[in-house]
Amino acid sequence: MGSFEYYKPESVAEAMALMEGSGGKGVYISGGTDVMVLIRQRKLSPGCLISLRNVRDLDYVDTSSGLAVGSAVTHNAIAKNDLIQKRYTALSDAASKVGSLQIRNVATMGGNICNAAPSADTACPLLVLDASVVIAGKSGERAVPIDEFFLGPNKVALGPGEIVKGFAMPAFSEKTGSAYIKHTRRQAMDLPMLGVAARVTIRIDGNEIGCRDALCTIDNISNVLKRFEDEKLVCEDARIALGVVAPRPMRAKKAETALKGKVISEGLFEEIGEIAASECQPRDSIRGEAWYRRDMVRVLTKRAILRAVDRVIRPDDTIWPERLW
Ligand SMILES: Cc1cc2nc3c(=O)[nH]c(=O)nc-3n(C[C@H](O)[C@H](O)[C@H](O)COP(=O)(O)OP(=O)(O)OC[C@H]3O[C@@H](n4cnc5c(N)ncnc54)[C@H](O)[C@@H]3O)c2cc1C
Repeated sequence: MGSFEYYKPESVAEAMALMEGSGGKGVYISGGTDVMVLIRQRKLSPGCLISLRNVRDLDYVDTSSGLAVGSAVTHNAIAKNDLIQKRYTALSDAASKVGSLQIRNVATMGGNICNAAPSADTACPLLVLDASVVIAGKSGERAVPIDEFFLGPNKVALGPGEIVKGFAMPAFSEKTGSAYIKHTRRQAMDLPMLGVAARVTIRIDGNEIGCRDALCTIDNISNVLKRFEDEKLVCEDARIALGVVAPRPMRAKKAETALKGKVISEGLFEEIGEIAASECQPRDSIRGEAWYRRDMVRVLTKRAILRAVDRVIRPDDTIWPERLW
């Protein structure tokens, strides 16, 4: 590992000035769990590291209007936040599954998103939660929809010296639920072979208790979905996002369109799973083969939607639909 200067600015302006003065050789570092690995592997040799850890403007969770999370907030802080667990559950699902507790205590969501690995766990939740990326640059602040922020593997829409300040998400009603499922080869400390996030807003035209009962007495997925169909459980709005099946985290937009406005039924779930699987472009890698990933997109898309629905109908008691499909 070569030598480099290490700076600890306390404001965004100071950090950007240090970056400008580094002559293109500076690298921002937050938790360092990606940057330090690259330096040790000699894939990155910065002239200086500019730490964002002491920049207070990047460390906030504001729930006064929707949700705003600073880029320096750690995965552990996100996973433990009550409002995020309740209303932005896909995000707490993902944050609670990143690496180990030691990693989650230092690694930040800003670093996860700026590193832009196709496997970044928090990317799919931010996509389904309609997040905007708030960026600070020389000429002020701008907001970019997260879907436009990812340009490719390890490539994001940041100009020279720009800093991600944080992420802003709209408020969602009590009829909205979300979920993220991380599919790994082993239970802990593994990057996802596949990640699927879903957000749904539902309306029940029949009997809400009937829908809840179906999930409580769950024995057979066909019976649950038949009850949903009988009680006319309509999916008013939907977002589906897939990770590690394309060069960048992606929305499954055709599957979303096919789900919107429909009464949930077994036939519809089969169709949505198939459409999502047809939209992705997985490849073979050390973590899994393309055919397997595509097949698991079909399966996990259905599960993620059902888990999101369950979180609306029974917010205090989550079932585990993977037992059912
Ligand atoms: C053992 C281990 C296990 C891991 N497991 C997982 C896992 O399960 N899932 C997963 O998704 N990731 C995992 N990772 C990767 C890593 O921990 C995450 O991507 C983490 O969120 C990175 O955050 P960080 O704060 O450490 O980023 P850093 O390493 O500090 O920075 C990452 C990149 O983002 C840039 N950057 C950071 N903050 C900003 C900002 N505010 N503005 C502009 N650029 C910025 C840096 O310059 C750098 O290019 C793992 C890593 C390790 C070492």
